[in-house]
Amino acid sequence: MLLPNILLTGTPGVGKTTLGKELASRSGLKYINVGDLAQEGQLYDGYDEEYDCPILDEDRVVDELENQMSEGGVIVDYHGCDFFPERWFHIVFVLQADNSVLYKRLETRGYNEKKLKDNIQCEIFQVLYEEALASYKEEIVHQLPSNKPEDLEDNINQILKWIEQWVKDNSS
Ligand code: ADP
Ligand code: MG
Repeated sequence: MLLPNILLTGTPGVGKTTLGKELASRSGLKYINVGDLAQEGQLYDGYDEEYDCPILDEDRVVDELENQMSEGGVIVDYHGCDFFPERWFHIVFVLQADNSVLYKRLETRGYNEKKLKDNIQCEIFQVLYEEALASYKEEIVHQLPSNKPEDLEDNINQILKWIEQWVKDNSS
């Protein structure tokens, strides 16, 4: 059976991993966290001193994922989306959280002042939504609110329905 590939993106802290893992367990699709994948394979290309984090080697990440993505049925989770091949994804969800909600989540993670401010700005200016619109067809890019547990439940149910419809439409 053919299954779709789904991209979950958005500012750190919006809830991509929470949604991705739950969605994977309920749909049977495979969940891939690009940050974890990069760490496991050390898919890095230098170090960003300003942000105090390694720089992702995007080409190696793409090479690493290519086979699985062409098979289908993968949920990809990452706070960036402009370096994945456009053809990989059948639908793109940009998760969004209110500033106050996001601030608290990132504070809990122990982010420093600069990192907090940068991420809140990233959310305010809808950086990931703009990046998604610039990288994928507008009609497959959707924003999802991700503030409260009911949002999570709604998002899961909506996406499960979408997957079911996609499978029907793509079976011959
Ligand atoms: P991301 O992967 O986008 O960085 P996470 O999935 O790690 O975000 O979520 C960040 C924090 O927000 C976690 O503590 C998680 O439990 C919480 N969270 C995520 N989604 C929701 C939601 N819909 N309602 C309430 N809390 C949420
Ligand atoms: Mg995450």
